[in-house]
Amino acid sequence: MAEKQEDNLQQPDNNDDNDTDNNKDDNDNNKDDNDDELGISDVMDLLRRMGMDQETPPQVLSELSLKGVAEFIASDKCQNIIVMTGAGISTAAGIPDFRSPGTGLYSQLEKYNLPHPQAIFELDYYKENPEPFCMLAKEMWPGNYNPTISHHFLCLLEKKGLLLRSFTQNIDGLELVGGLPEEKLVAAHGSFHTSHCIDCQQLHQLEWIKEKIFAGEVPRCTKEGCGALVKPDIVFFGEALPERFFKAMEDFKKADLLIVMGTSLKVQPFNLLVDQVAKTVPRLLINREKVGDGMLGMFGHGFDFDSERKYRDVAHLDDCDSGCVALCEMLGWKDELLQMSKSHNGGTAS
Ligand SMILES: [Zn+2]
Repeated sequence: MAEKQEDNLQQPDNNDDNDTDNNKDDNDNNKDDNDDELGISDVMDLLRRMGMDQETPPQVLSELSLKGVAEFIASDKCQNIIVMTGAGISTAAGIPDFRSPGTGLYSQLEKYNLPHPQAIFELDYYKENPEPFCMLAKEMWPGNYNPTISHHFLCLLEKKGLLLRSFTQNIDGLELVGGLPEEKLVAAHGSFHTSHCIDCQQLHQLEWIKEKIFAGEVPRCTKEGCGALVKPDIVFFGEALPERFFKAMEDFKKADLLIVMGTSLKVQPFNLLVDQVAKTVPRLLINREKVGDGMLGMFGHGFDFDSERKYRDVAHLDDCDSGCVALCEMLGWKDELLQMSKSHNGGTAS
């Protein structure tokens, strides 16, 4: 430890020779560009080496695989599971990943000539053109879709007394449709459950705004003399996340296991949550591809599935529903999971 620190301290000495003033301006410009790149990689390198200086925490899982996670869940060491989810758990329900262009929903929205796909979640755009968001809200309104096996998996964890909390980026509310108690869900990007006037902040009731949106009307504030737009409390770009999100972050300290499903982990601050569990806590990713490995922006360390120092992160590469079924099969819960899904969807579960 001490030796390594000395090494680190000596490093900057090599760069101590200050630039002589012989460089031309052009060279300086080029050099600045290089410095920027070097600057970032230097920081990355430093962070990695800072990590190297720490002792690797003990491996809790019997093996770094889905089987190892299943064994851990079955043991009495695992009492509090946090699940983080994204659009991938809802695609099997037929809900398009509306944040990415090229989906069916976007072609429906083409007639509105959005300047760019994200405009639909921008407040300035909403103020000028509320219709596209209202149409999206009508399409996405909770109740239009059935929960997937992944949503039922959350309910199953809850039924087993193991679910501490489910954090989702989704605004479809399918967890609640599937029967998850409201207090178990943190909708990080908001929900349709409440709506507010964007000007006077007056709260508007769910039934009222639903009626407006389903009638194809733009919802306007009912407070006398206001008449500004009302918006469901979906978090738009640049808006603060719900207070509940920040309060519930406390949960991460209590977690024994973190499961991340169906998210690209690209959106901050949601993606930084993966680093909020204790260093010993195992983390399972169920997703079509590896995500979140390596740095997550400046502040996130992310997953480590493959390095020599890996000790707790497991990537199970599959679609979310199949991953949940595979995990439940190892736990002896598969029939129960499929039964929950089947009975909820009137026997039409695939
Ligand atoms: Zn108002």
